[in-house]
Amino acid sequence: MLAKKQAELRRADAAWPAFEETEFACFTEDEIRDCTFDIRKLLLTGRGRHLAICPRCLRRLKYWSAMFERLERATPLRDGRPDA
Ligand SMILES: [Zn+2]
Repeated sequence: MLAKKQAELRRADAAWPAFEETEFACFTEDEIRDCTFDIRKLLLTGRGRHLAICPRCLRRLKYWSAMFERLERATPLRDGRPDA
């Protein structure tokens, strides 16, 4: 039973390209906020796959997306960016 489970895990490992150590690191709050504006930034960090393994970062990304949506509706912004 256990051996079967281990074999399954090993198969799952093989199907998934090896993760770099940095990909396990959580995004900082700033990174999450930036990436809410432009998801490409997140992919450029080379750690996009982190979201696939981290429900916490995914939750934060959704949280900020919802937050910005609400803000945008409350205050119409020019070019989608607030004036500095
Ligand atoms: Zn994370």
